[in-house]
Amino acid sequence: RDAESANGGYVFYDSEMDKNIAGRLYLESGMQRALQVQEFYLLYQAKIDLHSAQVIGAEALIRWQHPEKGMISPVDFIPLAEETGLILQIDAWVLEAACGQARIWQDAGVRPFRIAVNLSAKEFAFTLPGRVRQALLRHQIASEWLELEITESMLMQNTDSVVAIMDEITALGVSLSLDDFGTGYSSLSCLKRFPIDTLKIDRSFIQGIPADPDDCAIASAIISMAKQLKHKVIAEGVETRAQFEFLKTVGCDEMQGYFFSRPVSAEDFVQLLDKNFCFKLD
Ligand code: C2E
Ligand code: MG
Ligand code: MG
Ligand code: MG
Repeated sequence: RDAESANGGYVFYDSEMDKNIAGRLYLESGMQRALQVQEFYLLYQAKIDLHSAQVIGAEALIRWQHPEKGMISPVDFIPLAEETGLILQIDAWVLEAACGQARIWQDAGVRPFRIAVNLSAKEFAFTLPGRVRQALLRHQIASEWLELEITESMLMQNTDSVVAIMDEITALGVSLSLDDFGTGYSSLSCLKRFPIDTLKIDRSFIQGIPADPDDCAIASAIISMAKQLKHKVIAEGVETRAQFEFLKTVGCDEMQGYFFSRPVSAEDFVQLLDKNFCFKLD
């Protein structure tokens, strides 16, 4: 044995690596099981319209109730699911679950509002429009109540085919929003080439408002550009009154964030629909 392999640090590193591989396998097989035995569930975070001061939509956010590990955040399993390809099944499950919940809400007489589903970068296949249509049909949901949140990395594939897929989706009446706007490599060219309804300003630009002049400038520039290009714009990750006040002043029409509501269960979400957020804000 040479000196290096006798070194405790190396041995430690190797066993850590094994642990990581074992950990990945553990999560990977766990996700398969989770799909079968319904360990995934959705929470819903409100989107607020500033003009009516009411909820105008919900973003469905996946959670994993793991039998041993407890709640696992999507940040910890979506990337692995993307690597292994299981994301296709997970995204399909989310679309199905969100449309199913929309049907439950509508049957209960809840006023209609748009539900947004996040799609992974790997998901933008030519089969997507058909699957979206099927999900809407299966649950008898009007397409105007569904929105898909996509990220710029999804738009990096072959432009012509991506545009064709997006056109098919918007032709159904489903709207598209560009999530984490401003964090990718080609945010501005995306606006020109793709049929996008709404820009979602990434939370990283909202965080520094109002103290950081750069964040303030970037957020207000995105808002005014979006308006001139006739896109809707929403700020995500609004946590404080100061952020809310600033964004309102620079003309942001829609917001989402802990300041209004955290992601909540479908049951709790219904209560937010009756709430007039003016009372909280004034
Ligand atoms: P995202 O789509 O940009 O979602 C926003 C994330 O920010 C959510 O985290 C939300 O809980 C969190 N958030 C909302 N308001 C605030 C706030 O005021 N402050 C802070 N600090 N955080 C806030 P979450 O639920 O952990 O999701 C993280 C990411 O995982 C999502 O980012 C999305 O990219 C992905 N994801 C979540 N659900 C799904 C899903 O069903 N399918 C796919 N493919 N990805 C999902
Ligand atoms: Mg999102
Ligand atoms: Mg987002
Ligand atoms: Mg984000």
